[in-house]
Amino acid sequence: MFQKILIANRGEIALRVLRACKELGIQTVVVHSTADADAMHVRLADESVCIGPPPSRDSYLNIHQIVAACEITGADAVHPGYGFLSENAKFADILAAHNITFIGPSGDHIRIMGDKIEAKRTAKRLGIPVVPGSDGAVTDEKEAKRIAAEIGYPVIIKASAGGGGRGMKVALTEEDLEVALQTARTEAGAAFGDDAVYIEKYLQKPRHIEVQVFGDGFGRGVHFGERDCSLQRRHQKVWEEANSPALNAEERSRIGGICAKAIADLGYSGAGTIEFLYENGEFYFIEMNTRLQVEHPVTEAITGIDLVHEQIRVASGGGLSVKQEDIKFNGHAIECRINAEDPRTFTPSPGTITHFHTPGGLGIRVDSGVYSGYKIPPYYDSLIGKLIVHGRNRVECMMRLRRALDEFVVDGIKTTLPLFRDLVGNADIANGDYDIHWLEKYLAKEE
Ligand code: ADP
Repeated sequence: MFQKILIANRGEIALRVLRACKELGIQTVVVHSTADADAMHVRLADESVCIGPPPSRDSYLNIHQIVAACEITGADAVHPGYGFLSENAKFADILAAHNITFIGPSGDHIRIMGDKIEAKRTAKRLGIPVVPGSDGAVTDEKEAKRIAAEIGYPVIIKASAGGGGRGMKVALTEEDLEVALQTARTEAGAAFGDDAVYIEKYLQKPRHIEVQVFGDGFGRGVHFGERDCSLQRRHQKVWEEANSPALNAEERSRIGGICAKAIADLGYSGAGTIEFLYENGEFYFIEMNTRLQVEHPVTEAITGIDLVHEQIRVASGGGLSVKQEDIKFNGHAIECRINAEDPRTFTPSPGTITHFHTPGGLGIRVDSGVYSGYKIPPYYDSLIGKLIVHGRNRVECMMRLRRALDEFVVDGIKTTLPLFRDLVGNADIANGDYDIHWLEKYLAKEE
């Protein structure tokens, strides 16, 4: 087991990882920018190292500074959290070259999944169902037309190097295709320095369903069921559930089994998430994230397993603490991402939190790094906390969520709490009846 882990992140996830390290009796080092000197994770860590000024590129993305902080403090492993360097293959390689363990998969696996064409090809080879479309990059228009005619309109053109929902264009008919192809390539070139694009069938009313997987480092793979993250705004997840209200037990174990086997065959090590669009009973792979996800606590709530403990165990060579048959799903969990944003316009609302009071009681978990008097710096993303609620079934979970939202107090800044108070009373949400476009339509109606 590791002696000392350096946490290369900030906010609620830095605190989340720190808690897991403390439970395992591992010393902690955190790195922080000058803007985060007062952050909770800095206060609670055994050691902290200031690695630079506020902008992420000079601090949380500064590989040299982070490696130097490991050397100075004698950390033998790094947990990258999510975002920042968590899916940076070069960072994983550099740490390996310094004999420091990256708590995550190999640089090669990060690289494969970071390239969308390569990821899709790999998924298909491993027997994961993919969206019908081109086999690789498409350059000329004639080929694009032939493929689109074969899979049927509408189609979506996506950038191979894409991310964060950028570089995607939908073509409803053949007439749109030429312009969509051109625009997607130009945008991809400008945004990612790589203009390779590919074509997929455009699914009209899918849900976003993702499977939590783990490779144990010894060639075995397991799945921890799925999460439904269909409630999104601008491709950003807002509300997540486990299990999905749309799947039955047979579908769950079928798709979970396919993913676990793929992870084993790939020789993958650590936590990963295989994301699908789901429509009319069919799953279509869209991408794999090679890290811990923001929404991992809903999986923890229904399985009772600490996924960060498992990540640390696997990275240290100790394997998983559970086998597939030990992973049982108990009840239902929902997570609300609470952002420091105006609940109508979603413009960021940094500033000082004058009063912060979190709900409590059975089945309630709040993961947050903020406190009364905390000043939210304007440099980073606006997530200030996650409310995770567990119940024996979805109805009980929703009842408890409504009560927890009523108790939650954040004064001094605007937050998205009012949006969740609206959603929890909505009939479609109560029925679990929503797809990936539902929230955008709902917000447009409310304006
Ligand atoms: P990114 O890495 O940029 O987030 P993804 O491939 O994960 O890109 O896609 C982001 C979102 O775009 C999906 O969650 C979905 O809303 C939409 N999308 C992607 N591919 C399709 C498709 N074939 N049909 C319909 N919507 C899609």
